[in-house]
Amino acid sequence: MFYHSTRSPLPQVDSAQAVLEGLAPDGGLYMPQQFPAFDWKDCLTGSSQEMSAKILSALLPDIPDMPELVRRAYTGKFETEDLTPSVPVGDKTVLELFRGPTSAFKDVALSMLPQLLTAAKTVKGVTEDILILTATSGDTGKAALEGFHDVPGVRICVFYPHGGVSQVQRAQMVTQEGANVAVCAVEGNFDDAQTGVKNIFAACQGMALPFRLSSANSINIGRLAPQIMYYFRAYRDLMDAGRISLGQEVNFSVPTGNFGDILAGYLAKLLGLPVGMLVCASNANNVLTDFLRTGTYDRRRPLLKTTSPSMDILVSSNLERLLYLLSGDTELVSGLMEQLKEQGHYTVPQSLLEKIRELFRASYCDDSRGAEIIGRVFRDYGYLCDPHTAAGWAAAEDYAAQTGDHRPMVVLSTASPYKFPAAVLSAIGGDLSGSEFDQMGRLARLTGVPIPGNLASLEGKPERHTGVIPKEDMLGYVLGL
Ligand SMILES: *Cc1c(COP(=O)(O)O)cnc(C)c1O
Repeated sequence: MFYHSTRSPLPQVDSAQAVLEGLAPDGGLYMPQQFPAFDWKDCLTGSSQEMSAKILSALLPDIPDMPELVRRAYTGKFETEDLTPSVPVGDKTVLELFRGPTSAFKDVALSMLPQLLTAAKTVKGVTEDILILTATSGDTGKAALEGFHDVPGVRICVFYPHGGVSQVQRAQMVTQEGANVAVCAVEGNFDDAQTGVKNIFAACQGMALPFRLSSANSINIGRLAPQIMYYFRAYRDLMDAGRISLGQEVNFSVPTGNFGDILAGYLAKLLGLPVGMLVCASNANNVLTDFLRTGTYDRRRPLLKTTSPSMDILVSSNLERLLYLLSGDTELVSGLMEQLKEQGHYTVPQSLLEKIRELFRASYCDDSRGAEIIGRVFRDYGYLCDPHTAAGWAAAEDYAAQTGDHRPMVVLSTASPYKFPAAVLSAIGGDLSGSEFDQMGRLARLTGVPIPGNLASLEGKPERHTGVIPKEDMLGYVLGL
């Protein structure tokens, strides 16, 4: 099985090479040339770890010992051994993806990526260290640090905007332990940090360095593929609960930023899982809602700051993979991406839009509706959700109201409510005084929902990474590592 770029059919690389490279040389994203035959019913019978190993072996066949890699990635690191539990809430099911070591859904993928990357290095005979370079607006940085710290042969460096992440998120990163980690604040906003990282990648090309640069974001197929497992897990949980029988279709509503999470749902469907409609949920940054309704993607608009910051994004990289999968036309995709880069917008052919709309719908929700939902879901069902999950809930409600489709609906929950204590506390009518840690305590007292251990233990932990640098100094910082 070979992979090639979404923007050209050649060159073809094996799956280990695709994981190692991350981005294809022409700037496109790696996808398998064809999807492997997969026994999806058999996959439903095992534990979450077994499901993960089967899926990853099918998609990344050149990486050996998958069950062992999965065991190392997950055993003992999540709150529950099923990794991503499902909770019935009213007429919906909430799929909790935030039970990992940093209380964000990115843990599912970023626990696995280091194992895949180091195994791919061995397969390809790469001996130099890999330096993972990441700019973060909050969640990715910590999840990547937790996944990569003390992994042999890998180092990791995370830049975050000074004053641009929450108190809890900052505390999570600056207290990170591990001999191979560097964390540094950059004077500027997230875009400055992100641009700085891109410039470092460009500047380092052709330089003789003691390491190979790589990235931890969802452009890497090794980060995307581990996310397929939880769609199978949720399906199996619905069967076990007697809510569906084998073969019945299930809908999923997915809080979306870079389009990785929801695309994993489509990959699950390509592997055979009876996935019904995939509902793409956005916040006030509703680029994807507009696209899925009209076929025009237009990033020429201001980026709004919302209470669901992990979805504050204007360019959703993984959408490119969907365009390729549904058109099979690398030339078309390459042209559209060029247009997006040069002109800030593109429109897909009507026939492609129709194919997309058979599979995906979209809706968005602003902060005030998100707060209304957090309050209502808590009052009606005693279930506390975070602002990203509230957007997923809103889109699920909109979809049912607009279509009358009442197949079972799973809402993916991407963060613990304790990662966003101010927004959640205010939504349930609590008092916002004090630090975010005071707010967490108050939220726990008001709701009785326990604070995840990793967040509760942050306050008072020693700060190890307190550096702040101007954005011009980022390259020098990396070269000095
Ligand atoms: C990253 C993230 C998302 C968006 O996921 P994508 O795969 O980028 O679409 C949603 N919610 C939270 C809490 C996240 O951290």
